[in-house]
Amino acid sequence: MTNLEFRNDIVVDLNFAYGSEHSIVNAARISLGKSKIKPLSDPINEKDKRFLKRLIRDYHGTPFEHGGFQFIIEAPLFVVHQLQRHRWSSFNEMSGRYTEFEPVFYKPKFFRKQSGKAMDYEFENLTGYQLEVAELDYESAIQHAMNKYNFLLQGEVAREHARMILPNSVYTAAVWTLNVRSLCNFILLRMDAHAQQEIQDIAKQAFTYLQEYFPNVANHYAEIAAIRPEFDLFDQ
Ligand SMILES: Cc1cc2nc3c(=O)[nH]c(=O)nc-3n(C[C@H](O)[C@H](O)[C@H](O)COP(=O)(O)OP(=O)(O)OC[C@H]3O[C@@H](n4cnc5c(N)ncnc54)[C@H](O)[C@@H]3O)c2cc1C
Repeated sequence: MTNLEFRNDIVVDLNFAYGSEHSIVNAARISLGKSKIKPLSDPINEKDKRFLKRLIRDYHGTPFEHGGFQFIIEAPLFVVHQLQRHRWSSFNEMSGRYTEFEPVFYKPKFFRKQSGKAMDYEFENLTGYQLEVAELDYESAIQHAMNKYNFLLQGEVAREHARMILPNSVYTAAVWTLNVRSLCNFILLRMDAHAQQEIQDIAKQAFTYLQEYFPNVANHYAEIAAIRPEFDLFDQ
């Protein structure tokens, strides 16, 4: 029997950030001619901040492609699958053909119960006996799948086939690179209360990096988001 590890965290490590609010402002200023490019030694001033806000307000998106991030993500497959829907970003993911999956699985702190209509579900945590039964079923199904994965490998079934038996909750790792424009789109969509909590977790972590490296952009987006009542940007 394979020993399993259950985790409930999702890791978003910053590998590097590139560009700056300067590079965004400069990219937009080229519209007015080369002489308007600010030297990097000039700090961002109040006029630049207003300019950034105006660019965001007017959907002038391309300047925000001149800065961005590379993250290393550690998350279960189902979350990485949701992440990969964000096509304006670049991914590389751990290969289930070249490596064997570790017996590490996501188990939420509390299983949630859903009610209401599709696209507007409400969730509450399961408790007591219901939670215990759900946890037992969940763990035993994963144990069974992982045991069979290892039996298949021992029986010389190729990794690319043996992996087909593994649950969505198995952890994988990915490199995710995207520009500020795309990250802000991601944050608006995935910090929204309608998004699954696990991907909201990635969006919240990514937002803290945005605040650190592109603080005025982050503030302006937070202002936009604040007009949407379901958006819980400020509940962190
Ligand atoms: C709460 C929630 C629930 C969801 N549920 C589902 C679901 O049930 N099923 C499902 O399949 N997906 C679902 N999604 C994923 C969603 O449909 C998008 O695929 C995902 O959010 C990526 O958004 P995006 O296209 O804006 O991002 P990106 O793919 O990064 O695209 C960024 C922007 O580029 C432009 N763009 C990109 N590709 C094209 C294109 N082909 N044509 C024109 N413009 C383009 C658009 O302006 C787009 O906003 C859900 C997303 C959320 C937030």
